[in-house]
Amino acid sequence: MARQIVTGAPSKGNEQCSHNRALHKLYTRQVASPKRYFRDHEDRDEVKRRAEEDFLNLYLEHGGTQRFKTLKCLFHDDGSPSASIYRGRFHCFGCGISLDVFEFIQRVRGEDFKGALAFLAARYGVQLTSGSLTDAERRDYARRRAVAEQEAREIVAWKESMLAALCDARDAYFHAYHRALRYILRHGLDAPMGNLAAEVVDLYEPHYQDMDGRIKVVSRAKFNEMLPFFRSQRAA
Ligand SMILES: [Zn+2]
Repeated sequence: MARQIVTGAPSKGNEQCSHNRALHKLYTRQVASPKRYFRDHEDRDEVKRRAEEDFLNLYLEHGGTQRFKTLKCLFHDDGSPSASIYRGRFHCFGCGISLDVFEFIQRVRGEDFKGALAFLAARYGVQLTSGSLTDAERRDYARRRAVAEQEAREIVAWKESMLAALCDARDAYFHAYHRALRYILRHGLDAPMGNLAAEVVDLYEPHYQDMDGRIKVVSRAKFNEMLPFFRSQRAA
């Protein structure tokens, strides 16, 4: 009889306290700000795309000089040109500066981000949509937010019920395993039910250990990882 009796209490997922915080994070990222939600910076992206294509001209118009492929750095006393524009960034190997096109314009024109954006938007004729939300947008946002909050409550309940079911199954296996083991220890394998008890022990031990593993996986799962599964389950 080389078996060990497990005396610890059956495990209950005890990592649930961080759920609500994680969930809050997940949903605030999606629906925190109506402006961020509706105005997804398409205009800003368009300005950036155009400015990146135009980066060399912007550089030359703001005091830059080009020698073959290398550029004179505007941000340190650059005797031998040591800068370049590459993949949308101005890099200097002399002073180590590295700027995206917005940052570059801010630096060379002495503007803040808004000023640089306005300058570039005007240059490319891009309309910036920075106005306030329409009533329709406001209503749509409120509706989406309510849906997201409802889903948040549902996914918390879903996870908890899944954990509860796993814990119940785990406890059932665990107790059956222990009852059989106690029987063998008390009465020996030669007792009338000895063989049956030994089979129960062999059968249920891997089951409750398997459940322990699942409980761990589910209780540690992050909500953003569970969300696609949760939605597919609900849709089914
Ligand atoms: Zn430099």
